[in-house]
Amino acid sequence: MNQLPIIDFAPFLSGSFKDKQQVAKAMRSASETNGFFMLKNIGIPNQDIDQAFLQSKQFFNLPETEKQQLAWDNALSNRGYIAVKRETLDPSQKSDLKEAFNLGTKKNESDPTHPAKNKWPTSIPSFQASIEPFIEQCTQLTYQVLSALAIALELDEDFFAAKHDSEQNTFRLLHYPALKQDEGREHNEKRAGAHTDYGSVTLLFQDEVGGLEVKAKSGQWISATPVKDTIVVNIGDLMQRWTNDVFSSNPHRVTQPEHSRHKDRYSIAYFCTSNHDQVIESINTCVTKDRPKKYQAISTEEHMLERLNRTY
Ligand code: CA
Repeated sequence: MNQLPIIDFAPFLSGSFKDKQQVAKAMRSASETNGFFMLKNIGIPNQDIDQAFLQSKQFFNLPETEKQQLAWDNALSNRGYIAVKRETLDPSQKSDLKEAFNLGTKKNESDPTHPAKNKWPTSIPSFQASIEPFIEQCTQLTYQVLSALAIALELDEDFFAAKHDSEQNTFRLLHYPALKQDEGREHNEKRAGAHTDYGSVTLLFQDEVGGLEVKAKSGQWISATPVKDTIVVNIGDLMQRWTNDVFSSNPHRVTQPEHSRHKDRYSIAYFCTSNHDQVIESINTCVTKDRPKKYQAISTEEHMLERLNRTY
């Protein structure tokens, strides 16, 4: 059974300021406890989400040699294909039983000074044409989520959104291949090892296969079993630091449950990050007598590179 709160986002997208505050309040409560919640009525049509999953399946079905031509090559760009077992999210564990494909936003693509460029699989003619606008839909949704989190902290609605307007986000297709017999069992391997996300917030679209677990404040692992027509939203390390630990970036992992380990699992994540030159310093409304400032100021870029280099 799913154990994350499900929050209806429709009143935020189309309601009054009072409606927005209600939604923000629910998001705050979830962000303070386990740092995870589910959102429904996010304003992205189901058919667009289905199409993105279809493109993802076609991509991961390409021959390995073709995918390797689009390989990820450096943390600064953080774009391209990452093969199965290339990444180890939990360094104390075996490598992850997953493959991934990272892309960036159109805004970065059209900026001639931006060093990183997307690597498109040209052998799937419909891929770029359908994924590019989907990334844009995700970007617009993150602005709304960031606005809600700002309201939750009694800040100006655009406090976070304005600091994310370079759209240095990472869009990631994920595929967890079906496991045969005892494959991936010997060392208690995970589809994705326990980790926290590095950036500010993450959106996650998951299929019905399941396996995502979140470590609650109590230390117990709770299940984020997929709920139809919802996405998962979670707080990342950067946001935890920014909010002086008011919001919580919780460890999570993808296990291989007995009933579904032999199935392919697909998910789509959108990792949101503030502008690279944005300095992250404890937000005023998050510093009190009982909660003194815990962190030194750090630039977004410093924080992200430090975290990325630890994973590869
Ligand atoms: Ca994650």
